[in-house]
Amino acid sequence: MKNKEKIYEGKAKIIYKGTKPNTLIQYFKDDATAFNNKKKSIIPGKGVLNNFISELLMSRLSEINVPNHFIKRLNMREQLVRKLEIIPVEVVVRNVATGSLVKRLGIKDGKVLSRPIIEFYLKNDDLNDPIISDEHIIVFEWATHQELEEIISIASRVNDFLTGYFFSQSIRLVDFKIEFGRFWDSDESILMLADEISPDNCRLWDIKTNKKLDKDRFRQDLGDVDKAYQEVAYRLGVLSENEFKKVIKNDL
Ligand code: ADP
Ligand code: UDP
Repeated sequence: MKNKEKIYEGKAKIIYKGTKPNTLIQYFKDDATAFNNKKKSIIPGKGVLNNFISELLMSRLSEINVPNHFIKRLNMREQLVRKLEIIPVEVVVRNVATGSLVKRLGIKDGKVLSRPIIEFYLKNDDLNDPIISDEHIIVFEWATHQELEEIISIASRVNDFLTGYFFSQSIRLVDFKIEFGRFWDSDESILMLADEISPDNCRLWDIKTNKKLDKDRFRQDLGDVDKAYQEVAYRLGVLSENEFKKVIKNDL
């Protein structure tokens, strides 16, 4: 589609007006950012890989009736999604202690948690996405009590499903961040999973070696960031190495 109307440009994606009412197009960029935009780089092919990986995972989640915004992939870097009213809360689910949890609470890095933990962060770059409690969410009306219960229930289902899905490819789902939004149908709203699920917002470790296959390779300067994202895509079977090489040659 030529001359699309740009609505928003974020750190990892551009959002355009969709082809039908109540839809948007997510364009996946190769830009990588960390530490609230302080560290920046380009990871060649990342946008393509995240588009394919997120398509796969959102589609599988639809098949088990986890409501989400994904409609269809349009091309190598774009997907059509339902336009949602985004709830300004980042929902993090953790199975293994690492990252900010370890820094904040002094827990041993890599400790497998006795049960998954769900945390909430305010989606506000100016405030550095501070951690918040369910009380804040209700009192400041970022979501209703009923929505919050649904968010927790969906986040938990997503975690159970994705943990098994990645495990079948010898990948440990350490933690991940998801976003939710409201799809308005006349004056009723349906809560749906939004944004993307990819190595940009999941921590993925090889089951045997604990090798990091996600954005931590960029955050921590571990090298081979592009290869790690490719490895996840190949293991999940969304693209073969040959297909990816062809795609990159004829990139949009
Ligand atoms: P950021 O805004 O954090 O820089 P991105 O570059 O990934 O992140 O931009 C994508 C933006 O689109 C995010 O702000 C996300 O909340 C928003 N978004 C994702 N899915 C939808 C949707 N279905 N409807 C409306 N907005 C969405
Ligand atoms: N995460 C994310 N976006 C953010 C913050 C975190 O996608 O703005 C993801 C991150 O990739 C990890 C999980 O959420 O999978 C938990 O991140 P953590 O709180 O440990 O933050 P970090 O160490 O990135 O500061």
